[in-house]
Amino acid sequence: MTTALPSHTTDEVRALLEPPGSALLHELGHGLGGPYHVLLPRRFDANAAAFRAAFASAGVDGRVYYAKKANKASVFVERAAVAGLGVDVASHGELREALAAGVPGTDLVITGPAKDDHLLRVSVLHGALIAVDALDELDRVLAVARELDRTAQVVLRLLPQGQPHSRFGLDHTETATALDRCRTERVDMAGFSFHLSGYAIQERADLAARAVRLCAHARTLGLRADRVSVGGGFAVDYVGAEDWRRFHESTRPEHFHRNKTFSGGYYPYHSPVAGADALAALLASTPADETSSLADLVRQAGVTLLVEPGRALLDQAGCSVFRVQGVKERDGYDILTVDGSSLSLSEQWFESEFLPDPVIVPADRADLADAGPYPACVGAATCLESDLLTWRKIPFPVRPATGDLLVYLNTAGYQMDSNESPFHELPLPPKVVVEPPAHDSPSVRPRWRLDRHP
Ligand SMILES: *Cc1c(COP(=O)(O)O)cnc(C)c1O
Repeated sequence: MTTALPSHTTDEVRALLEPPGSALLHELGHGLGGPYHVLLPRRFDANAAAFRAAFASAGVDGRVYYAKKANKASVFVERAAVAGLGVDVASHGELREALAAGVPGTDLVITGPAKDDHLLRVSVLHGALIAVDALDELDRVLAVARELDRTAQVVLRLLPQGQPHSRFGLDHTETATALDRCRTERVDMAGFSFHLSGYAIQERADLAARAVRLCAHARTLGLRADRVSVGGGFAVDYVGAEDWRRFHESTRPEHFHRNKTFSGGYYPYHSPVAGADALAALLASTPADETSSLADLVRQAGVTLLVEPGRALLDQAGCSVFRVQGVKERDGYDILTVDGSSLSLSEQWFESEFLPDPVIVPADRADLADAGPYPACVGAATCLESDLLTWRKIPFPVRPATGDLLVYLNTAGYQMDSNESPFHELPLPPKVVVEPPAHDSPSVRPRWRLDRHP
């Protein structure tokens, strides 16, 4: 039998999953007529505050930039704007969304490879911080600044020593050349940046210390060099340590529909140190070849540390709701079909699966008393054999039936919309912002609105 892999939740999420709060989920499903995503911006605010608190308690001058690519919703950039957070954007569309939400251009960092001239022009005009990824891109930044008679704000993105085959960043020689080219009044060379894949804290500390040392070197060349961006990559803890260990120990191919295995491996759904705690651990760690903590090094160097968390700011800030459309019994387990597709749960597109168990929120029906578990996989409402949201036979506590809801928890970071598509003319799931009742309201019901007003 498959082991359960329950997702961590919060009080706010649990209140939606259980009666009487769960009535809202059914009402929304009925009103919107298909799958939808719930966004919980209060949690985004709390996550951002925790990142700021980690800087403050380490005595480090730090700035938090929300990495916009993790979710396409408006509400999170709107919250970033009012909280005074920066935003990390990597396309003209993301830049437009951030500006429209009220984030000042000077609070934007522009990342991504080989940014086109249009994006560079607007970035220079807005005084946004451009993370330069290549020498030819730096030349184009300089040309745009000259043409506009403006000063471009740049950081130089470093190729990580530990990831030498990355397609991002400047190697040692390119960095030296770039520093030389930055000695013109057309650029304000603010410092260095990097972004590492994976969640290793020591590797980040080592590279951050190298960037701090490079700042000292750049200052000898007359450059400003007082900022280091350590990028994103702060882990999210989705499931408990013991459940995660048991999953790895006991999982067999037969626990999946058609004995499916995943060549992409699994995302590390359990992380002992996550979110703002990972930032605190980074600041407290001692980089290689150094004797003091990263926090001390940064402080002594008069450097401002920038972080660009995406996933970690969205931890527990959303979930995805599908309605069961049909149930078919097969070889001792059920194949559920829900009203959406796996394009709304992106992990399948990386040859992997989003593992935390979806939660069943039953329709108002009488036959719930029977004892489970009832294993079931979750298929999409499409004609593709391989379109399953969950291949794993989830051990549901009650037998799912048509009209029940399946809620995938903690999906706001990358899962809900990064691969969405109106394939089969299925509508894109709308996003519903759910917030607590107004302070002066006698109601205990949360309030909701659509993310984008039509
Ligand atoms: C994707 C990305 C981020 C955000 O990464 P997370 O893992 O979501 O924190 C930050 N900075 C850059 C440059 C990125 O490409």
